[in-house]
Formats: sequence, structure tokens, C-alpha cells
Amino acid sequence: MNLYLTDEQNMLQESVARLFAAESTAERVRAAEATGYDAVLWQHLQDMGLNVMRLPEEAGGLGSSLLDALIVAEQFGKYLVSVPLLEHLAASQTLVALAQNSASAAAAVTEIGAGALLSFLPQRLTDRRTPINGAAVADYLLLADDDHVYLLNSRHFVAVENLGSGALAVLDSGVKLDNFKIASGAEAVSRFDVACQEWRVLVAAALGGLAEQGLRMAAEYANERKAFGVPISSFQGLSHPLADAISQVEGAQLLARKAVWSLATGRDSAAADIAMAFWWAAEVSSKAMAKALRTFGGYGVSLEYDIQMYYRRAKAWPAAAGDPQRALLDAADCLWPGQRSVGQRSVGQRAGSVSTLLPAAGDNQQDYSLGADAAAFAEETRAFFSKYMTPELRAHAHHSVDGFHPEFNKLAAREGMLFPHWPKQYGGREKSAYAVAAMTAVIEAEGWEHVTAPITNQVAQIVMGFGTEEAKAESLPRFASGESLACMGFTEPSCGCDVFAAKTIAQQQGNGDWLINGQKIFTTAANLADYCFLLARTNTDKPKHAGLSVFLVPMDLPGIEVHAVHTLQDERTNIVYFSDVNLPGKYLVGEVDGGLKVMASTLEMEHGSADQYRHGHVTALHAAEKWALKAQRDSQPLLADNQVASRLARARVHLEVSTLLCYRAIWGMAEKIHNRYWGPMAKLFATEYYQRDADDLMDLCAPYSVMTQRDGLGHLEVGYRQSIGTTIYGGTSEVQRSLVAEQALGLARSRG
Ligand SMILES: Cc1cc2nc3c(=O)[nH]c(=O)nc-3n(C[C@H](O)[C@H](O)[C@H](O)COP(=O)(O)OP(=O)(O)OC[C@H]3O[C@@H](n4cnc5c(N)ncnc54)[C@H](O)[C@@H]3O)c2cc1C
Repeated sequence: MNLYLTDEQNMLQESVARLFAAESTAERVRAAEATGYDAVLWQHLQDMGLNVMRLPEEAGGLGSSLLDALIVAEQFGKYLVSVPLLEHLAASQTLVALAQNSASAAAAVTEIGAGALLSFLPQRLTDRRTPINGAAVADYLLLADDDHVYLLNSRHFVAVENLGSGALAVLDSGVKLDNFKIASGAEAVSRFDVACQEWRVLVAAALGGLAEQGLRMAAEYANERKAFGVPISSFQGLSHPLADAISQVEGAQLLARKAVWSLATGRDSAAADIAMAFWWAAEVSSKAMAKALRTFGGYGVSLEYDIQMYYRRAKAWPAAAGDPQRALLDAADCLWPGQRSVGQRSVGQRAGSVSTLLPAAGDNQQDYSLGADAAAFAEETRAFFSKYMTPELRAHAHHSVDGFHPEFNKLAAREGMLFPHWPKQYGGREKSAYAVAAMTAVIEAEGWEHVTAPITNQVAQIVMGFGTEEAKAESLPRFASGESLACMGFTEPSCGCDVFAAKTIAQQQGNGDWLINGQKIFTTAANLADYCFLLARTNTDKPKHAGLSVFLVPMDLPGIEVHAVHTLQDERTNIVYFSDVNLPGKYLVGEVDGGLKVMASTLEMEHGSADQYRHGHVTALHAAEKWALKAQRDSQPLLADNQVASRLARARVHLEVSTLLCYRAIWGMAEKIHNRYWGPMAKLFATEYYQRDADDLMDLCAPYSVMTQRDGLGHLEVGYRQSIGTTIYGGTSEVQRSLVAEQALGLARSRG
């Protein structure tokens, strides 16, 4: 993975941001609202060469990559730039391509190189009354219907007032389009469609910039404004919706960048990725701006406040290409072409939607995949399973700890497949976090239990960092060989989210041993584990957070009792009683009363592991998709129904966003980028959307979906029950929202 920008791109981003901060201030944006156009700013854009970024060098341009253009588009959105720059950039390459067979297009290219402004309608023209952004001011304007491409200019249009205060205009009724034809035929129209695709990417990026800025403005206001004597940002009713919104918006930003990478690397998914990025950005940005505007209370709707300008444009910009929901159908057409074909024609082949030609994206150093090493390790994992999976083991397989198989666990350890990322010193292979993520995906796809290893891994890693030499020497070889498991004892019957309110007591004895009394609940794998990683109170005189310590407790000590707690998710977890348990001093992890530090490191690790919550989503969606691909309605494929296709495509987009947020958290860990919210954001989004999609797909596949089976659609039914639990364990969604609100938006702390 590589999410870095190059030094040049960082410089481009900074200089564009500087220009817009100076030349697209709120006052300038307001001043340009009457026409939607700031001529002085357009001159500045030319001075920086931004107008010719997407013109090839042969045509006098800079030949910049689509990623460079996206970087500009993000800032364009942030500063609500009053120039139809996105249309200009998106249509540049198309005009150059058309100029090969059209003298008037060739003349236009020359003038564009010299500062002329280009715009276009980012869909095929089917109605002459369609408002077109930029048409009120552009020197050149491209239009296409199903057969021809036309080149006009602003004299042929009549300006119209509009929601986003853009330079919109409609065709003058007297204009005869035939007089402006520059190309005809399928190939020419396909070239036009390329501009529509590029526009979608750039608008998605601009909406990402716009929505992030609107949310930051709301956050700033929320920290200043007081109600009932406290900053309004401390009210969860306000901060949690903003946390959801910033998670969706950062997902949109990643999705747009990923679409550009898919184009640049020629991936089969590129056309689908563009449609998904556009739909998602359109879907979340206006809703995010509604939340942002509400933060300002009554002032939000006052024209004196800037947030209403963001609210209006978030809806108006994507609407230039018609109903953004059509992009979901375009995604469906790309994802399931067989089912979406009726006769010879794709159901979704609407004007300007799915094109066989795609924009040339140029260089792109980013990488949104887990990489070649990870792919090779996934292959090794598959080979391991195909070598050792017997029908008996297959019958034993289960997604919960019930699927744990001691011999298979030891076998995995021997073959280097249990903790492959561990240091060699502890028996590992020093594989990367990406390799582990790829391995985990295979294990989940095999339907094999993947609960015990991640818990044991987390405990073992903490012991490596904070344990005594004796505890390390005893426990780590046992974990590494697959012989022993660990469980985590944090939650108690009286406290879970408020984990530092733990009441379990550990009293130090004269000989240095500890006497432990208390209860832990939801202690997953405690019935199988040899060690419990226990949080206990060691000092009742100190404040709540300061009097805690952590221990590695051998589960065979006298005084420990484990009782089953069965869950909705076909999962056994446990309640564990500690009664006068005598624990030797060597099992203290970290310092006495230093539990907070150790716990911080444990929770940090949990943040990087959000990806594990995503796999159930993958399995449930695959099950629904597989079923829908075979299902028929009225002798037609079920997916020919646009409503069904939209719902399934929507779930795909959610999963795509979830994957990107999870991968970003892994990348952040691998690159040691100090970020305190990528993990919580990934966990929040991944689990909430898993639950939402499982819920909707259950309806989509009803009534068959309600049958409990261990294959086929049964995976969806399990997903429906499992997904709700994922929003609770590993930190509830409410806790994650608070973390995201605090860390991503700087909102006030809302917990004790
Ligand atoms: C299947 C399963 C496995 C688990 N495995 C383990 C394990 O192995 N080890 C372990 O230690 N724990 C485990 N847990 C426990 C899990 O971590 C807790 O359930 C979780 O932290 C919530 O704690 P609680 O259940 O006490 O709910 P509470 O803390 O009582 O919360 C109840 C509700 O109040 C909300 N809430 C609480 N505080 C706030 C706040 N400040 N702001 C807003 N809302 C708030 C919560 O989000 C929740 O909706 C597991 C749980 C489950 C369901």
C-alpha cells in the first residue's frame, strides 16, 4: 500500500490551497454568486498553469496526471471556487482527441492553451432545457447526444439562476445544433463519454474537499458556542452525527483517489470504481452538510453564515449530470454485466454512463492494494488449507471459538501460519501487516475460526513489550507453538465501556504475590485459554485511572471458575470468577498501578485491527450476491430489476469504503504514522455498515434468507446476527464515535 503523495504533489496541494485561500475567500465567493464566475481567479489559475493541466504536452499543456487534477479538485471543493474548472479539466483531453478530425475543435484547443475557458454537459443531451454548468461564461462548450458531438460557446446560451450559484445556462431556443457539429458516430460519442467519466472523478474529489471543510467549520463553531454552560460540541447528539459524517466523507475521499489509481493501473474495476466514487460522494456530502448546518442552529440558515453556501453546492454540483442515483446503476452494470444485459443492450447503457473508453490517468505512485508480497502470502495460506483441510476438519469448522481445533492450531504454528508477523526471536517470520491482512481474508473465506489467534496475538505482543523475563520465557513459546491460548479479561458485569472502572481487586502480599478477587464477563475463549490478560484494581486510594494494573494469569490456578455465556451469534463467551486466586509476582505486566499505559498499548493495537470486523461483511454480501445472480423474477434475472441492482451495488460501495478505511488504518500502523482516529473510524464504519447491509440484504433475499443453514444464504443469516455484536465488542460504536469526534474533528470530550 502507498497512500503518500509525492513531494511535487504535496507542493501542488499547498500552492493551490494558498492561492484559493487568498483568491477564493468567502467574500469573493459571495461576490461571484450572481454570475457563478470569478474572472480574476480564472486569471490566477492560468498564471499557475492549472488551466492546461490536463492538456497533453503536444497540445501545449502540462500533461499532468489525473491524480494531480484530483488534488486540485479537492481544494476547489474546500474553497468553493467560482470557476467551472472541473468541467474545463475533464473535457480537455476529449477536445484534443476530437481535434484530430475537426478543424474547429483544433482551433479551440489552441485557444484553450492560450487561456480560453472550456465547459461541457457531463451527460448526453436529451432535453434542450437542460441547465449546463459553465455555459453562461465558457468560451467553448461541448455537448453530445447519442449520435453527434457539438462545440458551441456562451453566446448560444441563456444564463439561469440556480441553487449552487454556478454559471449555469440553457441552450437558446433559436440555436440549431446541427450548425455546431464537430464529430459523429459511436467512437466520437464514446470520446465524449470519457470526459463524463473524468468529471465524475473530479466532482467526487471536490465534494470530498467541500464536505470536509463544511464539517470542520461546524466543529470550530461547536467548540466556541455554549449552551447550558458547556460547549455544544460536548453533546453527543451533535458530535456523534458529525463523527459519522466525517467517517463517510473520508471514505469518499479515499474512494475517489482509489478510482484514479484503478484507472492508472488499468484495473478491470476502474469503470465501477468511478461510478461508486461519484455516487458515494454525492450521497454523503449533502447529508454531511445538513448535519454541519444544523450545528449552527438558526444561524446556519442565515445567509450571513457561510455554511449554507456549502449546503447548497453539495447538492447542486453532482446534480449537473442528472440524478446521482443513476451512478449506482452504472456501478451495477459494470459489476454484473451478464445479469444487466437485456438482449444486446445493457440495461444501464444510458447517456454518458458506462463507457468502454476511460480517461487516461497518467502516472500514479499510490497503491490501494495490499501488495504483491501479501498476495503471495494469501496464496501460501490457500495452499496450506488445501493441503491440510480434511472432510472431518471441514465439518468441525465454525466462525466462533467453537471452531477452535487444538491440533490444527499447532499445525498452523508449525507451518508458520499462526503468527507469521512475529519477530524471528519469538518464532515468527516477520511478515508484514499487509500479509497478515491477506492471510486473514483467506482464513475467513475458508470459514475457519479466526477469533482465538487475534486475541492470543494481542496478549502475546503486550507480554513481549511489558512482561517480566520469566513470564515471557514461560508463555511466549507456548503461544508461538499453538499449544496455548490467551483470553482478555477487561469487561466486568458492572462496567464495559467504562473499562477503567474495574472492580476486580489484586492485593499485593508480603511475599510479592497477588491475591485476586472479582469477576470478568464476556471473556471470549476463557474456556480454552491457558492465560487470562487481566485488568485489576491495585490501589483504591488513587484516582480511578491511576490505580489499575495488568496481569497475565495462568487459568489453572486454584480459585478460577469459568461459566458459559451463549450469544445470539452462535458464539460461546464466558463469565470468569476469581476467588482468592494467589498469583505469583512474576505475572505482573508493566508496573504496579501502571495499567493505563499497558491498556493504551492494547487499545492502540485493537485500533489497527479493525480489518478483522470486515470479513463477516464480505461473506454475507458474497452470499447475497451469489443468490441474487442466480435468482429470477418474471423469467428475467433478478438483477435486471434496477431497484434490486441498486441495493446490491450500494452494499458493494459500503464494503469498498469499509475496506479502504481499514486498509488505511493498517497502512498507518505499518508506516508508524501517529494517528489516533483512523482505527476507530475504520471499526465504526466497518461494523455499522456490516449491520446495515446485513439488515437490508436479509429483506432483499427474503423469505429464503431467514432459514438457518451453514452454507449459501445461511451466511447472510449468520451475518445478520453476527454484525450487531461487532458494533459492541472491541469498543462500542458510541465509544468509537466519541473517539472520532475528538480526534478527527477536535470536538470536546463527551465522556468522563
Ligand atoms: C460477543 C462478545 C465478546 C466479547 N469479548 C470480550 C473479551 O474477550 N474480553 C473483554 O474484556 N470484553 C469482551 N466483550 C465485552 C465488550 O467489550 C463490551 O460488551 C463492550 O465494551 C460494552 O460494554 P458493556 O457491555 O458493559 O456495555 P456498557 O458499557 O454498559 O454500555 C451500554 C450502552 O451504553 C453505551 N455507552 C456507554 N458509555 C457511553 C458513553 N460514554 N457515551 C455514549 N454511549 C455510551 C454503549 O455504547 C452501549 O450502547 C465482548 C462482548 C461481546 C458481546
